[in-house]
Amino acid sequence: MNIQSTLNNYKTRHEYMTTEQQCALYLNNSRRLDPSAPSPTQAALPLCGLSEDLALDLGPVIVFPGLINSHTHLEFDAYPTIDGGPFRDYRAWARHVHHHYGELIEKIEAIPLAYRRQWGAFKNLLCGVTQIVDHCATPDAAAEHTPATLIDDFRFIHAEDSKWARLKLFCPSGDRPVVVHIGEGVTPEKEHQTDRFLAANIFRNPVIGVHGIAASDLSLTRLRALVWCPVSNLHLYNQTLKPEILNSDIPILFGTDSNLSAAGHLFDHLRTAHAKTGQGGANLLKSLTSTPSAVWRVNNIPALQDYVVARQHYTDPVKSFLALNPEDILIVIKAGKLLLLDECAFSLLKTDTRHPLTAAIQVGGRLKYVALKTPDLLTCLMDTEAGQRLKEMKLHAVSPESIPEAR
Ligand SMILES: [Zn+2]
Repeated sequence: MNIQSTLNNYKTRHEYMTTEQQCALYLNNSRRLDPSAPSPTQAALPLCGLSEDLALDLGPVIVFPGLINSHTHLEFDAYPTIDGGPFRDYRAWARHVHHHYGELIEKIEAIPLAYRRQWGAFKNLLCGVTQIVDHCATPDAAAEHTPATLIDDFRFIHAEDSKWARLKLFCPSGDRPVVVHIGEGVTPEKEHQTDRFLAANIFRNPVIGVHGIAASDLSLTRLRALVWCPVSNLHLYNQTLKPEILNSDIPILFGTDSNLSAAGHLFDHLRTAHAKTGQGGANLLKSLTSTPSAVWRVNNIPALQDYVVARQHYTDPVKSFLALNPEDILIVIKAGKLLLLDECAFSLLKTDTRHPLTAAIQVGGRLKYVALKTPDLLTCLMDTEAGQRLKEMKLHAVSPESIPEAR
């Protein structure tokens, strides 16, 4: 398909553009990977800051919607992954951490909370995540520090056995979902606890359960959706959801949990999920895009303006998606604005007059321009206990002088 036919194709999609997005970025040699548009087509991306239409050839690329991480604890991404399991339930794991790692906790908690949350959000952005559900009692406090959107239209209960949990579930929430860790363990007691908790949901509040490893079939049918964090589950309990649950009618949302219990980045997690449970790339992509978009009710026009462009390594675009690493992410656009740009697309910066890119970093040897509220975040973290996390992700801060100033 040549550029002109792409242009014509794009103009039929004009309904997605608001008056602010008059110009678009056209990508040659691209395959669109979108559960709502099953046949891949060449991509045209609305972009707020372009002063004119622009065509780029970045080599073979895949384009997919901005990903939605449905469960993490941003402030715990600065921690190393702690060993010592398998555990019987999350309370046994928490006791283990507090008993053996007091000194580490002190060092990590000494890093300002805003930096730790920003790091968590940035780690997500490097993998093309544009919307995050942070399991945190005060998501508004984290929102100002993150380039991604924090989904916060839900009621928060930490866990089914937290103080007042059943009373909180008992209170009608209308259409607002209630998000809660459930069945996080492997014992019969945990299963009964989950059963009893969900039986208290007399007003049928829509409950989105996180983990649910020990949940009975009956409990699972009572959920609006189930968040699946396979790497965290396997690390802590040596178990995760069974394929019959993953392939059932229950909407499955993918979550990474935090680095404290789940090492590696999102694409590492997807590959583990695929290897351990046989879930295919298309299902995994759905659990990060169309399913969470519907469940969290973010299926609106801004969501359609979240796109990720990534290097295509294989002819099969889904196989390419599963093979990605952060260095392969070339462009991330959030609500029509650039959040990340690889050096190969640098020419875009000369045309985009309103980009919010403030920092330059190396990811696995590739230079990326990124939107960071604290441009020297990596430098600030490098001297702390979290510096090792940056090394694990092969990240290096680079002088930002090469970035054209946003106007
Ligand atoms: Zn959690």
